[in-house]
Amino acid sequence: MSGAVYLVGAGPGAADLLTVRAARLLGQADVVVHDALIGAEVLALAPQAKLYNVGKRANRPSVDQRFICRLLVRLAGRHGVVVRLKGGDPNLFGRATEETRACRAAGVPVVSVPGISAGFAAASSLGVSLTARGVSRSVAFVTPTVARDGVETAHWAEAAAAAETAVIYMGALQAERVRDALLARGVPAHRPVALVESASLVGERIVRGALHELVELARELGEGPAIMVIGEAVAEARAVIAAADAA
Ligand code: SAH
Repeated sequence: MSGAVYLVGAGPGAADLLTVRAARLLGQADVVVHDALIGAEVLALAPQAKLYNVGKRANRPSVDQRFICRLLVRLAGRHGVVVRLKGGDPNLFGRATEETRACRAAGVPVVSVPGISAGFAAASSLGVSLTARGVSRSVAFVTPTVARDGVETAHWAEAAAAAETAVIYMGALQAERVRDALLARGVPAHRPVALVESASLVGERIVRGALHELVELARELGEGPAIMVIGEAVAEARAVIAAADAA
């Protein structure tokens, strides 16, 4: 028997932000290989499936990426529907390239199912539009984090500085580096920032301020995953909310 691997986006956390397609595939899955951030309510949609937690968390020992690739190929040799469930969208900072390549090299079909990325969930939590007429026509999704086997480059900082709105993944633990890199590239110290921890989840937390305060703001966060949004669009939304409050 041989099956297919479905690279499925689980969304930012809240179970009802899963797509209908993702929920259907979870119901059909023989096995689910999932990340650490996937919640119990989402996994409960696959009660018949064998679960493999291969989660990686910042600053903690993690499962080797090559092991995950080999596991997917092995499981596809024995099962029909192998769901590789990833937080947010599978095709954004999700190591989808390595897993797709490994499967294809072994002749295993791969199907990708999009999900709601954490950056979009953060924008909704903030009541922010990442783009806004006259304020922001460009959005950069960046991460300052370098994989252990990766090569350090400054492209992320250049992209974040050039965009009118920057959405930064895996950056909260490196707030000082992010602040310094953006200030060094001429981003104004008073550019508004908002940090959203555990967007869409119970325990969601929002802190707001300006770029020069990024380190202090990041210290206010807890252990959950966090997104940083940097740009005038953040203040735009605050103004709209303030106007609505005053009305
Ligand atoms: N593929 C995922 C991103 C994986 S990288 C996506 O599209 O969302 C993991 C990073 O995503 C975390 O370090 C954090 O920056 C962000 N993240 C994931 N879930 C989050 C959540 N619920 N709230 C805030 N940030 C989140």
